[in-house]
Amino acid sequence: MGVTREIYCATCATVAPFEPCSGDGDDSPEWACTRCGEAIVLAPLTLVGTPSRRARQVPPGRPDAAAA
Ligand SMILES: [Zn+2]
Repeated sequence: MGVTREIYCATCATVAPFEPCSGDGDDSPEWACTRCGEAIVLAPLTLVGTPSRRARQVPPGRPDAAAA
């Protein structure tokens, strides 16, 4: 208890306090809206805005890049 985050809830159409679902505290990847109960999954901060370099992903429609 006590750990909440202000996150935009699409169901409430406003920013609402969310609680961690799984009891992992602030590290929980899953959060639930305390107003409507809608659960969302937050990506770990390490993945936000950081392109993955482990796997080279080829956008659809560009078969030429797959051979490079
Ligand atoms: Zn909500």
